Amino acid sequence: MQLALSAEDAEFRDEMREFFTTKIPQEIRDAVRDRRELTKEHIVESMQIMNAAGIAVPNWPTEWGGQDWSPLRRHIWHEEMQRAYVPVPLAFNASMIGPVIAQFGSQEMKERFLPPTANLDIWWSQGFSEPDAGSDLASLKCRAVRDGDEYVVNGQKTWTTLGQYGDWIFNLVRTDPEAKKQAGISMLLIDMTSPGVEVRPIELIDGGHEVNEVWFTDVRVPAENLVGEENRAWDYAKFLLGNERVGVAPVGATKRTLAQAKEWAGPMLDDPLVASRFVELENELLALELTALRVVAHSADGKPHPASSVLKLKGTELQQAVTELVVDLAGPASLASGAGDDATTDLPWWTRRSTPVYLNFRKASIYGGSNEVQRQIIARTILGL
Ligand SMILES: Cc1cc2nc3c(=O)[nH]c(=O)nc-3n(C[C@H](O)[C@H](O)[C@H](O)COP(=O)(O)OP(=O)(O)OC[C@H]3O[C@@H](n4cnc5c(N)ncnc54)[C@H](O)[C@@H]3O)c2cc1C
Repeated sequence: MQLALSAEDAEFRDEMREFFTTKIPQEIRDAVRDRRELTKEHIVESMQIMNAAGIAVPNWPTEWGGQDWSPLRRHIWHEEMQRAYVPVPLAFNASMIGPVIAQFGSQEMKERFLPPTANLDIWWSQGFSEPDAGSDLASLKCRAVRDGDEYVVNGQKTWTTLGQYGDWIFNLVRTDPEAKKQAGISMLLIDMTSPGVEVRPIELIDGGHEVNEVWFTDVRVPAENLVGEENRAWDYAKFLLGNERVGVAPVGATKRTLAQAKEWAGPMLDDPLVASRFVELENELLALELTALRVVAHSADGKPHPASSVLKLKGTELQQAVTELVVDLAGPASLASGAGDDATTDLPWWTRRSTPVYLNFRKASIYGGSNEVQRQIIARTILGL
């Protein structure tokens, strides 16, 4: 089945295809294609090229650099980017704090932060989770106490993705310890070079350095860096997490890996069992794509649809299923992940990347709200159970 596009939308798709395949440097696209870890420079350069063309943050209000595109066009933009092996704009900036500041921030805050956020001159980190506050985020303890024109922050965040590159962090803090859990939380924008902020690396199962702990000891934050109102951040966090969940169903990237896997499979595709695994995944991805389109089409005023939980759940399950398929295709060669890229092995490169990528993507069913928690949300808000 093919999605039929109108002549205008087909022209838009061709424009996007041309842009992504000619304007983003080949070296960056090769790194994505070869499933290598991207550098900070890759991500910054690619987002800045998109921003210069006005297409880095199309989901934002137009006065702050957004585009008045239909949901279908936004989908095409996202699909073409992934199809061309272009890194998607940094989610912390483009899908998380940018829309929150645009919706809830003061005019001064918008003017100060939105342009450098769209251009990735500021690299944002997400300071939500703590050692005892992940799924149960509202039990977070990181404390901010008002002291004149400043807040004084003490506590710890964890699992901070790419915090080693972070310039600023949007932090959920407890400002009223007496109030009911959700009611005493605020959001502060904190300069990560402030005295008392310390970033400590966490090594992941694939050997990479992707996440960190961030510690705050008597960090002084100007009160003007409070987003919206004090003790109202639970609403802002829910708004942000709904956007995050839509973003973590990367249909295009999964389709792309599945297409690559077909090439890697070669003659193995003649095996009916292998072929049926491909067909099943392709069908499921098409169903997910149609669901994603329905969800964006029904998101009123930029507010996330409750079905964003379905996208998160199914999108990450399929993403993981494809990484598993690639390990199976590599067979025993998948064990050679530590063999390095030198000429000591004549195994195809993709076999050596298969296990680290498989292990890395175990994260996908945990972050953005674990898949078990998404099932609870679906049961409550969609099925009415
Ligand atoms: C790679 C990675 C990157 C991340 N990046 C960031 C980041 O940049 N910033 C940030 O703030 N956070 C980040 N996170 C944190 C992420 O949001 C949390 O890990 C997630 O919310 C789960 O919380 P937890 O790890 O504390 O697990 P827990 O909440 O302790 O859950 C443990 C287990 O119990 C299950 N469980 C918990 N509650 C329920 C329930 N009510 N019903 C059924 N099952 C339940 C969970 O599904 C899970 O299997 C990241 C996590 C990972 C793995």
